[in-house]
Amino acid sequence: MTESRTVAILGGGVGGVVTARTLRKRLPDKHRVIIVDRERDHLFAPSLLWLMTGQRKASKIQRPLSRLTKRGIEVIHGEIERIEPATRRVHLTDQDLDADYLVVSLGAELAPETIPGLAEAGHNFYTLPGAESLRDALDEFTGGRIVVLTATPAYKCPAAPYEAAMLINDYCRRRGIGDETHVDLYAAEPGPMGVTGPEVSQGVRDMVENAGISFHPEHQVVEVDPQARHITFGNGTTADFDLLAYVPPHRAPLAVRDSGLVDDSGWIPVHPGTMDTRYPGLYAIGDITGILLKMGKPLPMAGVFAERQAEVVAHNIAAEITGTGASKEFNGHGECFIETGGGKAGFGGGNFYAEPTPQIKLRKVGRRWHLGKVLFEKNWFRKNF
Ligand SMILES: Cc1cc2nc3c(=O)[nH]c(=O)nc-3n(C[C@H](O)[C@H](O)[C@H](O)COP(=O)(O)OP(=O)(O)OC[C@H]3O[C@@H](n4cnc5c(N)ncnc54)[C@H](O)[C@@H]3O)c2cc1C
Repeated sequence: MTESRTVAILGGGVGGVVTARTLRKRLPDKHRVIIVDRERDHLFAPSLLWLMTGQRKASKIQRPLSRLTKRGIEVIHGEIERIEPATRRVHLTDQDLDADYLVVSLGAELAPETIPGLAEAGHNFYTLPGAESLRDALDEFTGGRIVVLTATPAYKCPAAPYEAAMLINDYCRRRGIGDETHVDLYAAEPGPMGVTGPEVSQGVRDMVENAGISFHPEHQVVEVDPQARHITFGNGTTADFDLLAYVPPHRAPLAVRDSGLVDDSGWIPVHPGTMDTRYPGLYAIGDITGILLKMGKPLPMAGVFAERQAEVVAHNIAAEITGTGASKEFNGHGECFIETGGGKAGFGGGNFYAEPTPQIKLRKVGRRWHLGKVLFEKNWFRKNF
């Protein structure tokens, strides 16, 4: 008989809830599964893009994490202040937690304040409050120049800003202000979804430009003047705007940076298959990890990877505790929908671990991919909550 074990999962986002659910299914009741998050609600981030154009309400895209208790998962609401990787001790604001296994799925912290003027000047649609303020601003918008901006070349869901620009453009047309509005997309990166290869990147760029959006790659924002509504880029160019929607710089959360878990990349290095860290019993999954692909670029941050890595880690922890089943590895496969507006979407996917470069295919824009994303959202909540 194995003794009771405790698995603590840090973060109740995509990776965290999938780890908890999978573990609870596989582990006998005497073993504890604990999930910790500072938020009371789990947010399904892909739907923020629909929320900002009025197609979703906040209540529709969130669920209370406390619902997981029905499945036998212990939920702790609290701020993680420090992690001791060697002892697997976690310090929360008002308690400490000791675990036999620790799964770190704390995602990426958003840092708009690192670019002068950015937070004051625009809407950070990567957060719920930012997507809501963008929705309100779009609602009052009567025409002019809308800028969608990526503040750094690497950010979670590499398709999202491109989808955002197309959905905003489509929204303005539907509201009858399309002729008086122009959407510009200024990107820090050389092209959309660079890791997927030149063909897919060009395919997404075509979607954006065919919608009438002007695309400006390799524009690294240096500062924004909120009063003058003026952006200065590192390459010496500038741009004016009436409405600004942006993707902010990302970094590891402070508790992770302070724990000694990150390397020079700023993210947690892991084994690309098992998600082991260099500390026994400590795994990291999702956006917080840094996995360098053979091509020399990191695996993009995306929920699809967090989900699949979570399933592997939960399976392997359960196999070790119960002494049953062979261990598994994450194989680098992932896919995503690319919303284009008008009830349509494209779809890209394949093997990101393929060598020497990822093997990704882009499918033609159509209604079925949009419906696929709607179904995915529905299933997400049904499966996990
Ligand atoms: C607009 C948008 C659209 C997207 N669309 C897609 C898509 O279509 N497909 C796709 O695959 N991905 C998409 N993503 C990306 C996806 O949401 C993330 O990659 C995914 O959520 C990562 O999961 P994670 O578990 O690593 O982190 P998260 O889901 O971000 O979870 C991290 C959790 O940790 C908690 N936390 C952090 N620090 C602390 C602390 N100190 N104390 C306590 N709790 C803490 C946070 O509150 C959060 O709940 C999108 C993201 C955005 C913003």
